[in-house]
Amino acid sequence: MRIHGKCVRCKKRISVYTLYGTREDYDKKNGKYISIKCHNYRCNKKADYHLNDLSAVQSPFIGLFFGIVLAISLILCYYFYDLWSRTNYLYQIIIGIIIIPSTVWGIWFRENLEKVKRFNGNQIRR
Ligand SMILES: [Zn+2]
Repeated sequence: MRIHGKCVRCKKRISVYTLYGTREDYDKKNGKYISIKCHNYRCNKKADYHLNDLSAVQSPFIGLFFGIVLAISLILCYYFYDLWSRTNYLYQIIIGIIIIPSTVWGIWFRENLEKVKRFNGNQIRR
């Protein structure tokens, strides 16, 4: 999961990947601060950020993944429509192509949302 904050020098967005689901878990293993280097090439400031100043965000890949799945589904439907319309399983195939990936995506999306909420919902003592 990615957690974001603001660079102390240039105020641009900084982010870091963490395996911990909550601030408490991170704190227990690594302490209350995370060292993050700013990726703005004119800044490059490395600083320690308090966990409470960082917050989790939804992964941008989730939206991207959904777009890709939808595009592939539509392309498949378009190219194989002739072939499939000759089978008795046309609707099952179309449903499978659209519903299954959408369901998987929906579950993933909700889990990620819960993770983000859990992380942001619990602050630690300074
Ligand atoms: Zn910076």
